[in-house]
Amino acid sequence: MQYIFLSHDVDWRRQGPPVEHILERKDRFDSKIFERTKPEDLYRNIPEYMEIEEKLGVRSTFFFRTIYENGNLIDYEDDIKQLQESNWEIGLHTDPTSIDDAEKIRLEKEKLESITKKPIFGNRVHFLNYNSELLNKLEKLGFSYDSSLRHSKDRIDEKEMRYFRNNPVTQNLGSHGMDPSKWIIEFPVTLMDAYLFTHMKIKEDKIISEFKKTLDISRNLWDGEGLYGGVITVIWHDNVLKMKGGRMYQQILEFLTSQDDVKIMRGIDLVEILKN
Ligand SMILES: [Zn+2]
Repeated sequence: MQYIFLSHDVDWRRQGPPVEHILERKDRFDSKIFERTKPEDLYRNIPEYMEIEEKLGVRSTFFFRTIYENGNLIDYEDDIKQLQESNWEIGLHTDPTSIDDAEKIRLEKEKLESITKKPIFGNRVHFLNYNSELLNKLEKLGFSYDSSLRHSKDRIDEKEMRYFRNNPVTQNLGSHGMDPSKWIIEFPVTLMDAYLFTHMKIKEDKIISEFKKTLDISRNLWDGEGLYGGVITVIWHDNVLKMKGGRMYQQILEFLTSQDDVKIMRGIDLVEILKN
C-alpha cells in the first residue's frame, strides 16, 4: 500500500496579501479568473479544498501559522471550526523564528490550541526550516509528528519520502525514553506545488506523470520496519488553487484516488497506523 500524507500550508492572512503583491503576480492566474475574483479571494481557498476533498472522499491536514503579516490567526477561527467539524486535521505551521526556542514553539502551539480547543499533534515549520534539534523540542512539547524536512529543492528521490522516528538514543534521550512507539515521527516533504513549478520547472500538463513517477519510486521501496508500502508527503499551499499549476489539484486527487494501492490521509492517521 502507498500512503499519501496530504497537507495544506496556510501561509497568508485570511484577507490575502496586499493588492500590490497580487497585481505583481497577475500572470500567475488565468485572466478570466483574475478579473472575476475579488483580490482577497484569489489566495483564499479553504472552502474550495473542502469541497474537492469531500467529493473525492479524502481528508487532509491544514497547517496554520500563529503569526501572520498584517493579520491574525483569529481571523481563521470560523474556517478552523468548519474544518474540524468535518474531520480535517489542524496542525501548527511554526514560524521560522521560533524553531530554536522551545518556549516560543510552546506559545505558538497554545495559541493555536486556544482556537482548536483540542491538542495539536502535527507540526510543520514555515519555509521548511529544519534542524537536528527540532524533533527533540517538538517531542517534549507533545507533538506526535513533524513534516518540515526536505533535503533538496529540485529532486524527488527516496530521501524525500517515507518517514523516520526520532531516536532519543542518538538525539539526547527524548522525553519518552526507550519506547519507540512514542517517538515523534518525521515525514519528509516529497511533493510540493512551489518546488514542482519553480525549482523543478514541471509544466502543468506533466504534473500527473510526475505524481505517477513518484509513486513508482515509492512502490519499489520497502521501509524496513514492517509497514509494507511507502509514504509520500504532499503539500499543496492554500493560496495556489486558483493559480496556473496549482489549479491541477483536483485532477491530481482524481488520479491518486483512482489508484488501487493508494490511501490518502491526514498526518495523524498515518501516525496511528505506524504506531500500531
Ligand atoms: Zn509556509
